[in-house]
Amino acid sequence: MKNELTNDILKVLYTEDEIHQRVQELGAAIAEEFAGRRPLFVGILKGSVIFLADLIRACPLLCDLEMMAVSSYGNATASSGRVRINFDLQQDVRGRDLIIVEDILDSGNTLSFLKDYLNAKGAASITIVTLLDKPSGRQKAVTADYIGFTVPDAFVVGYGLDYAQLYRNLPCIGVLKPEVYQKT
Ligand code: 5GP
Ligand code: MG
Repeated sequence: MKNELTNDILKVLYTEDEIHQRVQELGAAIAEEFAGRRPLFVGILKGSVIFLADLIRACPLLCDLEMMAVSSYGNATASSGRVRINFDLQQDVRGRDLIIVEDILDSGNTLSFLKDYLNAKGAASITIVTLLDKPSGRQKAVTADYIGFTVPDAFVVGYGLDYAQLYRNLPCIGVLKPEVYQKT
């Protein structure tokens, strides 16, 4: 379908149907692992919100939900390496089984920072779920426990992921046309 959102997409990597199918699989696997344990999902704003909303509904579990906002990027397409907390947990996580839900694991700076931070808060366990993994970008040794898709070395948008705050509402995941970067 052609519209002002999809016009800027060079190539679709994962369709809405493919994403839906994969999220159902992840949800079922997580539900199996955490049955009877009341985990606390920690969604990382803003990129994970679409994924998170679908994922927790694919997880028939008693669970809690918290959000955190961190930034390491600004509006550039390369990681700055620094991570800052812009919005923190609203409850004590001591002794809890935490499931961090992230949009994409790239350099690993964000998730290695969050792991240390949440460990220091006394979490009983920390599980990392990332919609996308981009191993080519890795600077820190961090691995995810659950991965939706492994992506090539390209800047991707859609299904929550943005470029300069746009394209989060694209239902699929795709690669942007280079002229979009040059325009802004
Ligand atoms: P890391 O700290 O692992 O380098 O990066 C994590 C964050 O970088 C993600 O949460 C996301 O905001 C941003 N990021 C990394 N690669 C991409 C990409 O290909 N597309 C988009 N939209 N964001 C990315
Ligand atoms: Mg993010």
